[in-house]
Order: sequence, then C-alpha cells, then structure tokens
Amino acid sequence: MMRFLGTGAADVIPCPLCSCPLCEDARRDPSRGRFRSMFLLDDENLIDCGPEFAAAGIRFGLSFEKLKNVYITHTHEDHLDLSNAGFVRNSRTRSDVPVEVYLSEAGYDYVMTMFEAAKDRFPSLEGVRGILQDRIHLHAVRAGTAFSAGGYSILPVNTTHRVSPQETALNYRFEKDGWSLLYACDTGMYLPESLELLENSHLDCLILEGTWGSRTDKSTATHMNAYSFLEQLEIFSARGIIDAHTAVYLSHVNHMHTWTHEQYQAFMDEHAGRKVTVAYDGLEI
Ligand SMILES: [Zn+2]
Ligand SMILES: [Zn+2]
Ligand SMILES: [Zn+2]
Repeated sequence: MMRFLGTGAADVIPCPLCSCPLCEDARRDPSRGRFRSMFLLDDENLIDCGPEFAAAGIRFGLSFEKLKNVYITHTHEDHLDLSNAGFVRNSRTRSDVPVEVYLSEAGYDYVMTMFEAAKDRFPSLEGVRGILQDRIHLHAVRAGTAFSAGGYSILPVNTTHRVSPQETALNYRFEKDGWSLLYACDTGMYLPESLELLENSHLDCLILEGTWGSRTDKSTATHMNAYSFLEQLEIFSARGIIDAHTAVYLSHVNHMHTWTHEQYQAFMDEHAGRKVTVAYDGLEI
C-alpha cells in the first residue's frame, strides 16, 4: 500500500501566518490541511523527508521503523529536513541498519558542505550526528542513470525546478515486477531530454505536481498550475509515457490560489478528459 504523507508545497496548508480562505478552511477542518510533500512507497521506501515526517507518523498512526531508503527529489527544505536524521539514532527498537539516502550530485554536495561546515563547530546537530555515527548513508545519483534500491529499478529524471545554480530537482521513475510509477514533484514543464528518457514508459501510476492551482499569473517554468498540468498530461500521452490505464494523481498544492480541494477536483473532472485524482494527505493507493 502506498500513501501520500503530505501533498502540500513549502508554505503548508494552513500556512501558520496566513488567514486566506484556503488556510481558514483547513483550520476549521484539519483533515483538509496539507503537510509538505512526502510519499511512502512501502514500509521501507520513502520519497522526500520534510519537516512533517514525524507529524505524519502521528497523524496517520504509522511507524517508520522499517525505513531503509529515502529518495530525495531536491534539497529545498520542504523536501529534505536534515534534523530528521536524529530519529534514526533515537529509536529503541530498530537495529543499527542505516538509512540509505539517494539524491542528486548537487544535492549531495550541498549536504556534505553543510556537514563539513558543521561537524566540528555544531556536532550536536541531528543531521551531523546521524552522518557521523554512520546511521545515514548518502548516495549521489544522476539523471538518466538508473540504479537499484529497495527492490526497485529507479531512473532519475531531470526537471526544470531550480534550487540553486548548481542544483535542479530530480523526479524518479520506479519500476518493480513490470509495474511503474513516476513521481514528478517538483517540476515545471518537462524538458525534451526528460520526455525522451521516459518515452513509451506506459506508466501504471503518475504523480505530478499542480502547485499553483487556479493561478495563471505565476510562471510555470518551475512549478505547474492546473492548466500546465493538463498540457503536460497531453504531452505525456502523445509520447506514450502515460496511456488510458495510467492512474494519475495531482499533488504538491499551495494556498496561493482560490480553489479548495473539491474545486480543484471539479476542474480536473471537467477538463482532464480522463480520471485525475487530486491527492490529499493520507490518501492510500
Ligand atoms: Zn516543493
Ligand atoms: Zn493561506
Ligand atoms: Zn522545491
């Protein structure tokens, strides 16, 4: 069973310092809130590990004791919170099995630069202690070069979502026993090189971001809105990346627009020409 642990963007819903209609809606009914995006593939495999990692365990009654592999799309703080490394040290029941963390070469450089800068001066930082005590292993991966982990064959794919001049986010295609999933958060419209890599994938499942919702005045170069989401689906269909059997989910939604969850879903029902599920926190697949 796979599960969305978070379907929000960096600003969370409700954003702590915001009283817009979407944030107020989620305050009235906390089940309508959106943690920062995280996706649990199975007990051992997690995509992204943001600031609500522990909170998601509380909210959904989950133990992550068996976690072995974490696939980081990029080092924006909503997707990677280094303080989570401390939990590997804090467990009373887990054996000394380390957590293997996969991230881009530039993301790896970023984490190691932080680590090197902090290890002598700030040795009590949880991320630093986790790495120092050999509880966290980092692996740099490269777009276009598949690797094996957690029982999956995994293809990192380049995106247009920029973190720094050195780092752009990776998306990942997971394959196991003829089944495949593309996790496409965060990204803007896909690059030709990435379309080529994924051509004729005929995915079983696609999770694509739709950050800006109804908003069309924001650039879709680094994030999608509802309209670029649909445009991207058309391109994916034309390239054989998805087809009629692909289960399509929309995730990574912020509060900077006007649609509630139901309105976003209604837009997709009316315009997508296929089933698109606007994901919510806790949704199981
Ligand atoms: Zn994000
Ligand atoms: Zn708000
Ligand atoms: Zn980001």
